[in-house]
Amino acid sequence: MLQQVRDWLTEADSVTVLTGAGISTDSGIPDFRGPSGLWTRDPEAAKLVTLDAYVSDPAVRRRAWASRREHPAWHAEPNAGHRALADLERSGKLRAVVTQNIDGLHQRAGSEAVIELHGTLSEVQCLSCDDRGPMSGALERVDAGEPDPPCRKCGGILKSATISFGQALDPDVLRQAATAAATCDLFVAVGSSLTVQPAAGLVEIAARAGARVVIVNAEPTPYDSLANAVIREPIGEVLPALVTA
Ligand code: NAD
Repeated sequence: MLQQVRDWLTEADSVTVLTGAGISTDSGIPDFRGPSGLWTRDPEAAKLVTLDAYVSDPAVRRRAWASRREHPAWHAEPNAGHRALADLERSGKLRAVVTQNIDGLHQRAGSEAVIELHGTLSEVQCLSCDDRGPMSGALERVDAGEPDPPCRKCGGILKSATISFGQALDPDVLRQAATAAATCDLFVAVGSSLTVQPAAGLVEIAARAGARVVIVNAEPTPYDSLANAVIREPIGEVLPALVTA
């Protein structure tokens, strides 16, 4: 199977990769739905990324800020999977890395063609006036005794500049991602349960447009039957093996 996918990669002119939380587990950032996932262990944690709960419940916001303060992303380093995708980009074949992740590890590994579908943890945004600023400044306020720091411009509710459940994606970013899916000849989905829309639907967009589809994920996904190949081995081994070849 791996050899077959290597051949497809060699033949491909334009590769789009969709990544999910599974590519960052080797960097020490737990995914949501995998066997040791955050929500698998603590279903209440889902509230922290649900817009309604965040807006209506100050206790949820305080917990969300405390969890941002302790987020493993602040100490995480890119791993072999992230580095393999940066290598693929340097080879000239990569159209885009469309990522559902908010941890910035693709960029830190050297990837430039990154489309952050679900935003970034490194910034905050006001839910009322849209003002943005660095996460570091907001976390300093949390440390200084503001457990739920409001927007300094308008007093509105501040949140990480990430897409919560119930919150719309940036239409421009989504358009770029859909175009990258529709115009590649090989589409590889890596480390995603493919259960969050519209991200997961990119697999179908790519398949309909005639791209070969490869899924690299430890567990089954709803799109496996659409894929030309499904690889269940560890991402940190599969991606370097594919790209080095
Ligand atoms: P998910 O948690 O739903 O699924 C991750 C999948 O990756 C699981 O099916 C798991 O079996 C698989 N996996 C984990 N480690 C693996 C490995 N080493 N090798 C092979 N497979 C592995 O993640 P999702 O589909 O990305 O959806 C979760 C949402 O949560 C996304 O929107 C994402 O923004 C967000 N999230 C992001 C991060 C991050 O930025 N690192 C972390 C957790 C959640």
